[in-house]
Amino acid sequence: MSWIEIPEGSPFGADNLPLGVFRYGDEEPRVGAAIGDQVIDLAPVASAEMLDGAQLFAQPTLNGFLALGRPAWRATRNWLLDLVSNPGQRDAVEPHLIPQSAVTMQLPFEVADYVDFYASEQHATNLGRLFRPDSEPLLPNWKHLPVGYHGRAGTIVASGTDIVRPSGQRKSPTEPVPSFGPSQRLDIEVELGYVVGTPSTLGTPVSVDDFENHVFGVVLVNDWSARDLQAWEYVPLGPFLGKSFATSISPWVISLDALNPAAVPLPAQDPPVLPYLAGKNLTNYDITFEVRLNGHVISTPPYRDTYWSPAQMLAHLTANGATLRTGDLYASGTISGPEKTQRGSLIELTWAGRDPLVLDGQEHTFLQDGDEVTITAWATTPTGKRLGLGEVSGTITPA
Ligand code: CA
Repeated sequence: MSWIEIPEGSPFGADNLPLGVFRYGDEEPRVGAAIGDQVIDLAPVASAEMLDGAQLFAQPTLNGFLALGRPAWRATRNWLLDLVSNPGQRDAVEPHLIPQSAVTMQLPFEVADYVDFYASEQHATNLGRLFRPDSEPLLPNWKHLPVGYHGRAGTIVASGTDIVRPSGQRKSPTEPVPSFGPSQRLDIEVELGYVVGTPSTLGTPVSVDDFENHVFGVVLVNDWSARDLQAWEYVPLGPFLGKSFATSISPWVISLDALNPAAVPLPAQDPPVLPYLAGKNLTNYDITFEVRLNGHVISTPPYRDTYWSPAQMLAHLTANGATLRTGDLYASGTISGPEKTQRGSLIELTWAGRDPLVLDGQEHTFLQDGDEVTITAWATTPTGKRLGLGEVSGTITPA
């Protein structure tokens, strides 16, 4: 409960309290917390209360705060919970509430490294069938390690940023030679992104049990993908220019502490994983995404049955001693469920364009110029309580 009025159905209830970076008028961008349809301007409130690290909220990214580590994240969350639930804090906080409609949200943190996984079995199976129709859909390594690649941190953009249609080289199997031009198979990928706060030491792997000591929280990710560029370039070294032109993330970072009531056990893994990927309490989260294309709901991918847990992805990406840095982002890979209406990309939803969606009576396959894609998501606890993860959106502009 909060003394702040929270509209019915708001994703940001009094125990969510995600952090983001907002710009208000011509003032310097700084850190805020979302509640209902308002932003708490944290810098002046923390400063007046002489909170340790208050100056970190006056910065234009969350990185300084993220670097503090779990004990400080938890203390800050407890402070925030008190601010919004304790009527005695009303006089201190109320002057620093700003309507979300009056602010512009920015990229919440400066992205250090970006890694993208491929953790949904249903998605990997669908893509295997589409890209390699004559062989087993899952490659032999897939159930032994979380497959991933290093993406491009510098082109991760804030929700709302226009996405310029990428150009590149492609060659379909029926064409004798490659050509260069605007992508004709521009797609989305619905993913959950994990935001690293606490760095690690070069040469020292992070264990699956240390996940919560390093990861602060999650954002929604739309990993825009040019399928025609990807299909021609990806052999043998993996995704490159078909992915690196833009990846959009949601503005509000939901903390693991807020999300944990929606944690669910990881589904059984068969064959058993190697010891460095094994853990007693591996979890996923019960999250359902909703994907809208020009306002029409086209898919509702479920996260909870994702094959690899985020703790395993983290352990794997540091298993060779590679460091984590504050601001690292690693994403789950496209999330797809078993139903046709649960697929997290257009290449799956339209089966490579052969089975178009029909929106407003018009057939639709890959993204057209002017298309707007919005992804929202909600986490659900075992008692049915819901917690919103906000939204990430983007509109395609011509090449
Ligand atoms: Ca991806």
